[in-house]
Amino acid sequence: MPNSSFILGGVEVLRGTNVTINIELPKLYNTPTQLPIRVLRGKKDGPVVFISAAIHGNELNGIEIIRRFRKLPILKNLKGTIILVPIVNIYGVMNLSRYLPDRRDLNRHFPGSEKGSLASRIADIFFKEIVQKCDLGIDLHTASIHKSNLPQIRTNVDNKYTLRLAKAFEAPVILHSEIRDGSLRAVAQEKGVPILLYEAGEALRFDEQSIRIGVKGIVNVLIANGMLPNVLSNKSKKFPVIVRDSAWLRATDSGIIRTVKALGDTVRKGEIIAYINEPLDDNIYEIVAPYDGIIIGKSEMPLIQEGDAVFHIANFKKLAIANNKILYFCEDALEDCEFINYDNEEAIEWL
Ligand SMILES: [Zn+2]
Repeated sequence: MPNSSFILGGVEVLRGTNVTINIELPKLYNTPTQLPIRVLRGKKDGPVVFISAAIHGNELNGIEIIRRFRKLPILKNLKGTIILVPIVNIYGVMNLSRYLPDRRDLNRHFPGSEKGSLASRIADIFFKEIVQKCDLGIDLHTASIHKSNLPQIRTNVDNKYTLRLAKAFEAPVILHSEIRDGSLRAVAQEKGVPILLYEAGEALRFDEQSIRIGVKGIVNVLIANGMLPNVLSNKSKKFPVIVRDSAWLRATDSGIIRTVKALGDTVRKGEIIAYINEPLDDNIYEIVAPYDGIIIGKSEMPLIQEGDAVFHIANFKKLAIANNKILYFCEDALEDCEFINYDNEEAIEWL
């Protein structure tokens, strides 16, 4: 994308500068509301990438991922432009809610319209001002309320370009996912802007491992996209587990759940994953794995009702390989890595 002059929200961002821009959103009664974004423009032109978080207002990990990412000294060598949008659903974050005040899910209303519902109007502003100016987007999510996700990239694995970047991200799992109507990913891809969706951790919580894998992942993708210098050339590449299909396993009974398996564990068909019973009942119900696979999402609620989604299991047969890979990724994420010193954050000086 030619970007000799780069204008966003009516503000021109010069090469080698970083600027905070507030974009006007529909106000709530008399209270002005703005979408705060930060544009980092390198000294040299290159691709334009947006990184967004909290499209669902209770999914907070991505906000912290962007905060840490913004301080990385490696960004001094940026080629191209990065648009950081740490809180897309500003109304949802204020209320700790996934939704907007009109009870709509913003991620089902893209590309939006100027004259539509509140959700549709916000989607329209975000899409026109940001998404359409970009060559690539990385959208950060967590599991929905009371659930947690193993760090994973969701993308179309049949698209070579996004598969290459998904592998570069180095989350433990890449999940091929069908796109949903009205989601940012579906509509952006239709308009030629590929999206990597990072899903990790739990709603309303920070998860350190998910945050670190996320920060590293974004840097890895920008390196693979030619926007940052390859400071990691000597490190050994890690290859995520790629899975094509997955399903939520639902509780067959109601009661107190005791789980035997955790996030990232592998399960064999027929293996017991959890037990359900009731305080005054001696019956014990078992939840059993329906096929070989990896637990990539789970409920965090100790009490469940029949029909509740309890475990999200990715279908994968090579369990020994999956075990080794996931352990390797997750342990490595909590050690210091080559380019990030988490205890000594520094603000970057530009120019
Ligand atoms: Zn989400």
